[in-house]
Amino acid sequence: MNPARGPRIAIVGAGLGGLTCARVLQRHGRSVTVFEREASADARPQGGTLDLHADTGQAALRAAGLLDRFQALSRPEGEEWRVLDFADAALLAHQGPSGAGGRPEIDRGQLRGLLLDSLTEGTVRWGRAVTAVTPLADGTCRMLFGDDTAADFDLVVGADGAWSRVRPALSDAAPRYTGVTFVETGFDHCDTRHPDLARLVGNGSMLVKGAGRSLVAQRNSNGRIRAYIALRAPQDWHVAAGVDLGDQRAVRTHLLRMLDGWDESLRSIVRNSDSTFINRSLFVLPVPHTWEHVPGVTLLGDAAHLMPPAGLGANLAMLDGSDLAHALVAESSVDDAVRAYESAMLPRSIEAATGSAQGLDRLVPATTA
Ligand SMILES: Cc1cc2nc3c(=O)[nH]c(=O)nc-3n(C[C@H](O)[C@H](O)[C@H](O)COP(=O)(O)OP(=O)(O)OC[C@H]3O[C@@H](n4cnc5c(N)ncnc54)[C@H](O)[C@@H]3O)c2cc1C
Repeated sequence: MNPARGPRIAIVGAGLGGLTCARVLQRHGRSVTVFEREASADARPQGGTLDLHADTGQAALRAAGLLDRFQALSRPEGEEWRVLDFADAALLAHQGPSGAGGRPEIDRGQLRGLLLDSLTEGTVRWGRAVTAVTPLADGTCRMLFGDDTAADFDLVVGADGAWSRVRPALSDAAPRYTGVTFVETGFDHCDTRHPDLARLVGNGSMLVKGAGRSLVAQRNSNGRIRAYIALRAPQDWHVAAGVDLGDQRAVRTHLLRMLDGWDESLRSIVRNSDSTFINRSLFVLPVPHTWEHVPGVTLLGDAAHLMPPAGLGANLAMLDGSDLAHALVAESSVDDAVRAYESAMLPRSIEAATGSAQGLDRLVPATTA
């Protein structure tokens, strides 16, 4: 450790959790480096819309000094939810925006951009894939990179998502398939090109449930609607169905067959989408997922507690990042800070993962009864 600059802290992964941690550390004058395997900030599309909750995602943004900028970008009206009947698209339930801070939506790409822009130039080292980490006897940790180089740090934070390369230093746990796959597609310029769909979805999200299959459509910014056909099915459902995932027409035909008996306005989401279909098998870590404390290394976000997408994962990743940074600022040693962080993060993530598993069962019920 360099007494002038504090401990050498490395964060693996420039996702929402890792970037929040880096930002809060820098706000408190701490030195930090983020290693990201992707080549640049826009190497791949960042995905759909997220609702940030007052006590988690928004609290982390407040700690990062970015709440005002978030509020300027976010869509409070996007909190609206409607549930439709699959057979005739009749409205079964509706919930408007709660107001008063609630859970405003923001595109994931906008949120990540907000965090990236807030960091000191050069904080993120792009194109630096970490292959493994090894805790050392002196309480520090060695990181190995894809180009066979290595670097030692006082603390390595695994913020590298579902398939973390840092996690094996702490735990043998591996993600397992949930039994649910989301097939994602989307529409651009909805208000002008797809006005019927725009009316159906409204300002926020629309949910339709059938037996073992559900449809979620969500409004993003700039007139985009992203839709997920959620299937309770084996991970290799396409093999059994004889569908080549690279053949868009075959995927569309199969999905339409899955929605036989559904109202035409809903089937048209599959029939007319602008974007290709992306198969996203959902994985989770076992619950509970915990580990014996190891000096010099810890995890946050999906690397620590990958759970079904029930609206909590990004929020918790950001809260983890902010909490870990605060502990590192407040405690007199790195080890005390990591122990304090883990003792709060692990129990809360067990509770959230249990609730999210139940949420996935409600989102894609095996039967409609
Ligand atoms: C379809 C879907 C919808 C979702 N909707 C919501 C929602 O509405 N609300 C919500 O709160 N959550 C939602 N989630 C969950 C949310 O996306 C995750 O929980 C969140 O992104 C986790 O953030 P993270 O920073 O831990 O990891 P990630 O966002 O996965 O970021 C990890 C980063 O690490 C990098 N990386 C990976 N491996 C390495 C390596 N070896 N070396 C260097 N870098 C590496 C990756 O490139 C990436 O940039 C959803 C998830 C899915 C799949």
